[in-house]
Parts: sequence; C-alpha cells; structure tokens
Amino acid sequence: MKVALFGGTFDPVHLGHLEVARAAADKFQLNTVYFVPADIPPHKQSRHLTDFQHRFAMLALATADDKRFVPSLLDAPKGSPNYTIDTVRRVKRTLKKSDKLYFLIGVDAFKDIATWYQPEALLAECEFIVVSRPGFSIADIRDALPEKLRPAEETSPGARNQQLSDTIAVPGATIYLLPDIHNRVSSTQIRAAVSRPVRQLSRFLPKTVAEYIKKERLYTGAAAGDLKDTAQSKVLSFQKARHHVHRTQ
Ligand code: ATP
Repeated sequence: MKVALFGGTFDPVHLGHLEVARAAADKFQLNTVYFVPADIPPHKQSRHLTDFQHRFAMLALATADDKRFVPSLLDAPKGSPNYTIDTVRRVKRTLKKSDKLYFLIGVDAFKDIATWYQPEALLAECEFIVVSRPGFSIADIRDALPEKLRPAEETSPGARNQQLSDTIAVPGATIYLLPDIHNRVSSTQIRAAVSRPVRQLSRFLPKTVAEYIKKERLYTGAAAGDLKDTAQSKVLSFQKARHHVHRTQ
C-alpha cells in the first residue's frame, strides 16, 4: 500500500490542494492521501487560524468524492506542539514493511523545511513529493535542504540540471518533483474574497465548502486575515455545544 501525508493549515481547503493531491495520487499510484490539518504550525502562528474543527469539517466536505482522500485527525490539537517527525513516525508504526509512506508538500512550504523540527531525521524517515506552485521556483529545492544534506556545488557538477529532473536523491533524502501544477489559488486569496457569492467562490474551492463558509460566516472579520472575532465566536459555540452534550449524557 502506498500512502501520503499532505499537511497544511487548509484555512480553507481549496481546488489547488485537491489538484495537488490528485496529481500525486495518480502519478505515484497512492492508495490513500491523508489531508492532515495542522494545529498551529510555528511558522504560521502570527495569523489567527480558524478553529480546527471548522478546517477539518471543510476538508471532510472537500474530500468526500474521492475514495483515496481521507481527512485526518493526526495533528488535532492536543495541548502541545505536533511535530511532523512524530506524526510521520506514528503513522509508520501502523504500516506494514511493504507499505510506503510519502510526505506531500508544495515547493513554497518545502523551502522552509530546514527550519522544521529535526529536518534531517524527517527527510530520512520518508520520501517527499514536492509540487510546483506559481511564483516559486522548483529549481531552488536543493538549496532548501538542511545544510548537512546539501551537496556542495563544486562536488556535484551539473547539480542545477539535475534539479530539474524528476528526482533529487542525495544521501539521507529522496525527493520526487511534480512540476506540472500551475494553479494560482491560495487560501489567503479566498479569505480575502469571502464576501463574493458562492457561485464565484466555487471557482476556487468546492461548492460545498463555499456554502459551509457562508453558513458558518467564516472569514468575515473586519480585515481579511483578522479572523479573531468570528473564529473566537465559533470556538465558543463549539464549546457550548460540547458542554451541552456533556450535561445531557
Ligand atoms: P495560505 O494562503 O493561508 O498560506 P495555502 O493556500 O498556501 O494557504 P496551505 O494549507 O498552507 O494553503 O497549504 C498546504 C500545502 O498545500 C502546502 O504544502 C502548500 O505548499 C500546498 N499548496 C497550497 N496551494 C497550492 C497550490 N495552488 N499549488 C501547489 N501547492 C499548493
């Protein structure tokens, strides 16, 4: 069995994410792509994330019609940081020896890989599939590797050309490139455009997700990106719902 973990904030999930997952699943014959919404990844803490439950609910809607796609609670909030290396190891413990695990990621996110927790160990733990994204050069992937894994330019003549082939294999890391994704959509753009009607939003994300955003009045803070008030009220309404359930049990 071939499995990929696709991590992100998914705030909200959009058609770019689905295209990435579909392309990877087709090319690498993946049986399952787990969409793993992050709790609060350290590099995104500056922006208030929409409540985890909402991001998960939108993923459940977006992944409903592809059997290979599964929304995952692997990185659900647990009160302490979720490190990718731990998540990967946890998943590997559930797999058979003959199974294969990949980590699926866009080139913009991969560029920060050296700042992640234990990046060398993470890259040794599973193979990566790095997907192109407009505005980011896939040719820079080698430079993004943690220094210890980065071969010196002079010891690898032709390295630049090799970067453009489908695979980067260095001792301690194997990275497959998926260079044919050219979808410009981003969650940032959707958050900024949320006042548009469902019909227009549906060009960027599944209609069911657009309808959910409207119904729950997500991303309607005074300024795009300032989600504090609305997200806060939803957290409270989730908490209220939870307390109600506890009281009636
Ligand atoms: P934001 O705009 O809030 O930063 P985003 O659109 O980048 O969000 P994330 O949830 O941060 O979405 O992305 C999850 C993963 O999907 C990352 O690895 C990211 O690189 C990748 N990704 C997102 N959108 C695209 C896209 N249009 N093309 C290729 N990869 C993408």
